[in-house]
Amino acid sequence: MENPTLPTLLWRGFIGRCPHCGQGALFCAYLKQNDACLYCSQDFTAFRAEDGPAWVTILLTGHIVIPVALGMARHDTDPGTGTLCFLITLTLACVFILLPRSKGVFIAVLWLLARKRAQSLSLLNSSEKIQS
Ligand SMILES: [Zn+2]
Repeated sequence: MENPTLPTLLWRGFIGRCPHCGQGALFCAYLKQNDACLYCSQDFTAFRAEDGPAWVTILLTGHIVIPVALGMARHDTDPGTGTLCFLITLTLACVFILLPRSKGVFIAVLWLLARKRAQSLSLLNSSEKIQS
């Protein structure tokens, strides 16, 4: 199987696909990741994104919602319940859309780092065999 380029790898994570083959699903539920890929049997148990995706989601949601809220506050002198409902809905939509995507990207980056570490270890081992 070929080594995917970084944009391909990030896209696979973004759409929730296996970073190795791009075919299997990364998640079996909204945020619950599969233990292994159903197509290429890539083991995902070592790749835990922990709190990183939540932080990225908060950062991106803030950058989307706050300018909208400031723009609405500038033009609407008396923001009412409708404005508040819109901003809460926008915030929740951003979180629900961005959280699994950022988790997929995190897992893809973790997979890439593990692959590069394994490749450098195999290169190191092969150069040691050549020297001895
Ligand atoms: Zn796969």
